Amino acid sequence: MSPEAEAGASDARPLARARWLDAPESRELLDALEAEGKQARFVGGCVRDTLLDPDLDPEDLDLATQERPERLLQRLPLLGFHVVATGLKHGTVTVIRGRRRYEITTLRRDVACFGRHAEVEFSDDFEEDAARRDFTINAMSCDRTGRLYDYFGGREDLFAGRIRFVGEPEQRIREDFLRILRFFRFYARFGRAPAEPAALSACRKLAFGLDRLSGERIRGELERLLQAPGAVAALRLMVESEVGARIFPVAPDLERLERLRALAPAADWLLCTAALLRGRLDEAGALRFAARLRLSNRERDRLSALLTAELPDPRAPRGVHERLAYRLGLALWADLLRLAAVERGTDPALLETRLRELAGFVPPRFPLGGRDLLARGIPTGPRVGRLLEAVRRWWEDEGFRPDRAACLARLDALLAAESAGQENAASAGRTVSREDRERRAEG
Ligand code: ATP
Ligand code: MG
Repeated sequence: MSPEAEAGASDARPLARARWLDAPESRELLDALEAEGKQARFVGGCVRDTLLDPDLDPEDLDLATQERPERLLQRLPLLGFHVVATGLKHGTVTVIRGRRRYEITTLRRDVACFGRHAEVEFSDDFEEDAARRDFTINAMSCDRTGRLYDYFGGREDLFAGRIRFVGEPEQRIREDFLRILRFFRFYARFGRAPAEPAALSACRKLAFGLDRLSGERIRGELERLLQAPGAVAALRLMVESEVGARIFPVAPDLERLERLRALAPAADWLLCTAALLRGRLDEAGALRFAARLRLSNRERDRLSALLTAELPDPRAPRGVHERLAYRLGLALWADLLRLAAVERGTDPALLETRLRELAGFVPPRFPLGGRDLLARGIPTGPRVGRLLEAVRRWWEDEGFRPDRAACLARLDALLAAESAGQENAASAGRTVSREDRERRAEG
């Protein structure tokens, strides 16, 4: 059968000049995949995205092939390809070549579906493989000549901003509830209002299924949704269709996210999440949400700080901000400042000034350590930490300028004041508070 005769094939070769298709590593891989008479095609994101922007040159590329995965694992290494069995039970292997990553999946038809665990049957038929994909815009493929195979009108949907399920939305969602989130994720990226009513009502009806999904999968979709230009519009639809309540523990503040994205277009997904939820979740709630999404410990701590730490005052003088940046780390300080600016409606120019002022700020190293106190005969214990903290706070207040000698002198002054205080206190028959001692040391 010639490609022209095949359903879905077009005469046009809109991807003939795609840079990734023409790249030598892609050519070599296609040659290897098709050496024994089987066909292979690029599919999914690279085809979709390059139709919109012909200059695109993604490094992550998906391929569909008639060859079975076991055979790929045998054959490709003999031809010099580094092959990893990344998802063998779905029929996927990964080839890394140069700077590119190719996910190669054997053509499939999904026979029985239990949630995400589709029973897989391999196939020789590209149209069957396209039919198991989620949306028409994701079901397009192209061969080595750049010819487009579009079985379900994906190209037209793409240019019209329509996210349309392949087949019946309800059935497709019942096969895999993650497709609800994927619907909103792709809407956030490509969608133009109004969204498909049939898809929306299927999402609403089956939103309960999201509770059964793993946190990793939800996080993956939410992260990518929040990076998309239309995130706020998509989230609004999610809230309206009762999907939002399955993902967020409290109603998200969409207006605040909108303001954050206007003020800080590069805000990453966790900062966006903080804009959505800040002030509505306490620390325990933040930790539960982080656990549900299976965030790493670092991400959890960052989100928790973004949700609960006090916000800096953008109008405070530079020294205050330097001290905060020193305490919090520059990145967290900057993000809290952005949230503060959103909260207070700060002039964007002032925010910019603040951020620029500290752009080159290298948090200085406090010149003293526990060893310095031990060297002065102070035994290990809470007193060491207390004294160090007192000197450190003075050093911060002095704009981090005092050097090691000055800090040691300060320490000695504190120690002297302490013993004088103890003598005074002993004679006065009372103990001296830490504040008293410090005040005296300062005076
Ligand atoms: P992105 O550029 O955001 O990665 P993508 O289209 O590559 O977009 P992936 O999640 O990487 O999206 O999936 C690759 C392809 O696999 C999709 O284009 C789609 O054809 C198919 N696919 C992925 N997940 C599903 C799913 N849950 N149900 C059906 N098809 C899916
Ligand atoms: Mg992808």
